[in-house]
Amino acid sequence: MRHFPLFLDLAGRDVAVIGGGEVALRKVLALREAGARVTVVAPLLHAQLQALAGEGALWHAAEALSADAIAVAGRPWFLASWFLIAATDDAAVNAAVAEAATQARKFVNVVDDAPLCTAIVPAIIDRSPLLVAVSSGGTAPMLARRVRREVEQLLDQGLGRLAVFLERWRGRVKAAVSAPSRRRELYDRWMDGDVAALVRAGREAEADAAMAVSLDGHAADALPAGRVTLVGAGPGGAGLLTLAGLQALQTADVVLVDRLVSDEVRALARRDALQVEVGKEGGGHAVTQDEIHALLLEHARAGLHVVRLKGGDPFIFGRGGEEAQVLREHGIPYAIVPGITAALAAGAFAGIPLTHRDHARSLRLATAHCRGSADETDWDALAAEQGTLVLYMGVRQASRVQRELLLRGRAAATPVAVVENAGRVEQRVVCSTLGTLAEALRVEAVKSPALLLVGEVTALARELHWFGAPPVTVGTPPVTVGTPPGARAAVAMRGPASGHPQAATAP
Ligand code: SAH
Repeated sequence: MRHFPLFLDLAGRDVAVIGGGEVALRKVLALREAGARVTVVAPLLHAQLQALAGEGALWHAAEALSADAIAVAGRPWFLASWFLIAATDDAAVNAAVAEAATQARKFVNVVDDAPLCTAIVPAIIDRSPLLVAVSSGGTAPMLARRVRREVEQLLDQGLGRLAVFLERWRGRVKAAVSAPSRRRELYDRWMDGDVAALVRAGREAEADAAMAVSLDGHAADALPAGRVTLVGAGPGGAGLLTLAGLQALQTADVVLVDRLVSDEVRALARRDALQVEVGKEGGGHAVTQDEIHALLLEHARAGLHVVRLKGGDPFIFGRGGEEAQVLREHGIPYAIVPGITAALAAGAFAGIPLTHRDHARSLRLATAHCRGSADETDWDALAAEQGTLVLYMGVRQASRVQRELLLRGRAAATPVAVVENAGRVEQRVVCSTLGTLAEALRVEAVKSPALLLVGEVTALARELHWFGAPPVTVGTPPVTVGTPPGARAAVAMRGPASGHPQAATAP
């Protein structure tokens, strides 16, 4: 080991930063976070340092140092400092500071000059009070930064909270459980189980209660309580999974996966997690919803962390609501991680702004498929939507959608777009009009998963597309509604009544 790792308590202690540029600024900000009393030594200061000096957040020693270690060693800020950072762009001055510090047995860091350093500053992952420091001993800062990024993704933001919570319990736990090995076991259980999940969800009072019960001794030997995380996987690519979703997957014992979830996302689950496919095949159900509920309860009751991984967002046509209700009923703790729903992916990846100042002021997400659900589709409401209408599970219902909306007065010329495999490399976009919607799906042989988008904004796909194959147009293309450069033009909708009377005049 080339360096001895150490954390310094600099609160209220003097530290000198030599140099007044951007690098110095970064160091000063970090030192300020640790509560150090910072003196910045430089003839001129970076504007932000100047501002900090104005606020009294640092002292400015406005002097230009020469490369003279003896002169440096006599300066008052030098004598007062516990630690120094040399961050000037003059190698000779940096070397003089390093020499003076070393003579005086003060630790010194010289930015980007490892041989002169007696202290190196690690890359950190801050989950205060938990702090992870990564260092390559000054030899490969890029590598350290990369490791930092990877660790950053693994450690969720709730860890700091958890550390504060456990600190609060530390004394009581020690008093109640004398054997260190037994204590370790219990801590593992709490950190993997419901206590940590409750703290992360901001429910400290319940976490306290769970800790108290567990510590009582009666419950300490019982099976640990499991938990469930409903995770939205987004439309496909792993890049559209959230960090919270990734963290859940990496701590999962069991993953119940939907058919819509891509292999790329599934591959991110913890390697030894058991993956169970509960996807729905075609229209029929491979595993019924009741069976999924039973699986969730069974694994959670066995003390496991169950991740229920769904395409898009769990609460948008994902039956996540029903699952959460079942978990609540049975007292299983749960968390919900949102995902990018198909409509948002289709908008972004097909170049269809779902709202637009000129064309759509609202967005309605609906489904055309209502088999097995209590209420009928409210076609009147769908036809009355003046903004953008996005229909999930609509491929098989396309001719019905077309018929019902036309019947209720939507113009045949209303632009529509069908987005198949939104956000995936195989994405296809078919632009058409309401009058030719069903024909477009037939001609292009569109398959699920696909969304039907209805409204003026969909015509913008032909102008704004940037991802995958360019959109295909079927039938008479609606006149582009894009805004010509320099003018917010009146919207030119072909055909008689456009169904968007307000769009006929420029705002
Ligand atoms: N919870 C999911 C929706 C599940 S319902 C979400 O938030 O996205 C299933 C329907 O979603 C499919 O029939 C299809 O209409 C739509 N869908 C899901 N993924 C899609 C994708 N990548 N491209 C287009 N439509 C998609």
